[in-house]
Order: sequence, then C-alpha cells, then structure tokens
Amino acid sequence: MKLLQGKTALITGASRGIGRGIAMKYAQEGANVAFTYISSVEQGEEMVKELEAFGIKAKGYLSDASDFKVADELIADIVATFGTLDIVVNNAGITKDNLLMRMSEEQWDDVIRVNLKSVFNIVKAAQKPMLKQRSGSIINISSVVGIKGNAGQTNYSASKAGIIGFTKSVALELGSRNIRSNAIAPGFIETEMTSALDEKTVQSWRNSIPLKRGGTTEDVANVCVFLGSNMSAYVTGQVLNVCGGMLT
Ligand code: NAP
Repeated sequence: MKLLQGKTALITGASRGIGRGIAMKYAQEGANVAFTYISSVEQGEEMVKELEAFGIKAKGYLSDASDFKVADELIADIVATFGTLDIVVNNAGITKDNLLMRMSEEQWDDVIRVNLKSVFNIVKAAQKPMLKQRSGSIINISSVVGIKGNAGQTNYSASKAGIIGFTKSVALELGSRNIRSNAIAPGFIETEMTSALDEKTVQSWRNSIPLKRGGTTEDVANVCVFLGSNMSAYVTGQVLNVCGGMLT
C-alpha cells in the first residue's frame, strides 16, 4: 500500500524546485495532486502529464497564492474536481534580498505577501473542507533562516518566522478536529537555481554542513510524505528542520 493512496493534496508553487519534487513524490506515493504556479505555464502543463503517468489524477492551476479571493476560488475548484482535500503543502515562495539599509518598502511587502499572506489565504480556505471531513494535514514550508535569521534577508526571514507562529496557532485551533499543522525548515537545498552559483562558493557551504552535502528536493519531499501520511498521525504544531544538521 502506498503511503498517500486515496488522498488529495494541494502543493503551491510546484512548477519547479522543491515544490515540483514534492508533487512527484506525492504522485509516486499514490496521492492525487493539485498544484499551482504563477508564470510557468508550459512546465505546468507538461507536469500534469508526468504526474498522471503515476496513475493518479492531477491538475495544474495558474493561481496566485498571495491573492485572497483567488486562493478561495482555487480551493473551491479543487474540492469540486477531486471531491476532497486532505493535504495542503504551502511551498510557494520568493526572495528579494537586500540589506535593511537598502531594502525598499516594495521588497518588504512583496516577500511578506507571497510567502506569508499566501499561507493565511490558502489555509483559511482549506480549513472549510477539512473541518467538514474532520481530518487534514497542513504542511508549511518555512526555512532555517526563519529560526536563526540571515543578514540581507530581513524580509524573507521575517516571513518564514511568521509561518512558524501561524503553523503552531493553527495546530492549537484545529487539533480537536483532527487537522494537523506542521512546518518544515529546509536548510541549503540544491535546485536548478543554486546550480547557477559559483561552484567554489557552493562547495564551501557544503563543507560547513555536518552531513557534508547540500539537501535535495527529494530530502524535503520525503519529510512531506511523512507529515502528509498517517505515519505522523500524532505529530502537530512542530517544526522539522531538514538541513543536514546545519541548525541544531
Ligand atoms: P523556486 O525554485 O524559486 O520555485 C518557487 C515556486 O513558487 C515556483 O513554482 C513559482 O512558480 C512559485 N510561485 C512564486 N510565487 C507564487 C505565487 N504568488 N503563487 C503561486 N506560486 C508562486 O523555489 P524553491 O527553491 O524550490 O523553494 C520552494 C520553497 O522552499 C520556498 O518557500 C522557499 O522559501 C523554501 N526554501 C527553499 C530553500 C532552498 O535552499 N531552495 C531553503 C529553505 C526554504 P513559477 O515557476 O510560475 O514562477
């Protein structure tokens, strides 16, 4: 029996990187997958075919998670299309790095809106079907910098710290209805984005990690399978660091 057989999952921001890795792993584990993206239309359409090859139902949505009304419509469409919504992975995120001295109001607002408000939007809408069915697993992708901070990322680390507070509050509010809420804090995960960086710099990052390597999208996806599945039935309100021991 596959770990997510018969469950329906929404993964936001899944056209590439970590979100794509989660969507693929979820399909492999038998989940029906709804996923979103903001601009990668071609990749999104191609991905539906790749997901369906695992024998599950898949649908991609061009949908801005940071827009309250759009997020509400997204959840309504998913419930109408798939019948249920069992797992939500809030993964969509952006960076607009700058030292505080140079950070514009726009850079602050954009990152808080896309990274943090999106989580409120999606969970606010998704709690309705989850409350009805009296079950659900919410997984919010934070970051180790939401725990320890990072120079040049006041906006990003504030958004990721905000996600942790939100996750814990939702766990307290919805626990009695069998709805779980957890966060994942990835460390340095190697994606297409990081492959464009200077190899020497990347190697020095790897050397500073106790497990001596960057993480893979699969490392994060495996933890999402655990938190989405019944294997974690007694786990809620937690932050799981997936960082090779970078933050202990
Ligand atoms: P990525 O490769 O840049 O992918 C971001 C995804 O989010 C894309 O699919 C993008 O869609 C989508 N997206 C952006 N804005 C959106 C919006 N408003 N609505 C819906 N979708 C939106 O990012 P990543 O590196 O995989 O990171 C994924 C998550 O993990 C983020 O929350 C990030 O903060 C977190 N994280 C990453 C690392 C790391 O080392 N990579 C470490 C810690 C935490 P389009 O393709 O259409 O633009």
